[in-house]
Amino acid sequence: ELDVRQTVDWMVKANEKVQEQKDYLSQLDRAIGDGDHGINMARGFQEIANTLPNEEFEEVSDVLKKTATIVMSKVGGASGPLYGTAFLKMSMESKGSNVDGETFEKMVGAAVEGLKQRGKAKEGEKTMIDVWSPVLDVLKEVSEINGEKIREAAHTAMEATKDMVATKGRAAYLKERSKDHLDPGSVSSYYLFEALAETLE
Ligand code: ADP
Ligand code: MG
Ligand code: MG
Repeated sequence: ELDVRQTVDWMVKANEKVQEQKDYLSQLDRAIGDGDHGINMARGFQEIANTLPNEEFEEVSDVLKKTATIVMSKVGGASGPLYGTAFLKMSMESKGSNVDGETFEKMVGAAVEGLKQRGKAKEGEKTMIDVWSPVLDVLKEVSEINGEKIREAAHTAMEATKDMVATKGRAAYLKERSKDHLDPGSVSSYYLFEALAETLE
């Protein structure tokens, strides 16, 4: 189960990872994009970490809604509206002060649908969807929110983006040359799920 405090901790931890890996994320984006993914994420998640711990939230849904608002207004680029949509959809599917495994599966399911709609993308196109969707698959297999399984699936999925050819986003301009590089948004999505796993430990 995931409660309000853990959800705030999750986002604060995600920010720590994003700040630590800011240069790495931008470096990945320099190879197949415009080199700003670390800067974009660091700007948005710093604001999240500055804001969430100082506010009162009744439900997990409220934490995720606030997160979505900040991400939408601060991250920018393609990833800002996409992550914003993912958090907003999760917020909309979340009810109660504690989120159980079944609810979390629905939340991530809604996020994946939202990402696909917003990005006009599907699995296998070398985007963050290629991490979110395998995480959803794991949640469908287990009834509880199993942090370690989520982390493991997200890690394998992130690595798998290396072999993919981008057909969406800036990396799609490179066509076949986008191969042999990790997708930056998939790497930042991995950090998000790694942060969740560590929060649940
Ligand atoms: P920008 O490309 O505008 O500079 P970022 O560098 O912050 O934005 O984010 C790039 C990441 O966004 C990509 O690595 C990819 O994971 C994700 N992305 C880009 N376009 C799409 C899309 N159409 N659908 C899903 N994800 C996308
Ligand atoms: Mg970029
Ligand atoms: Mg950009």
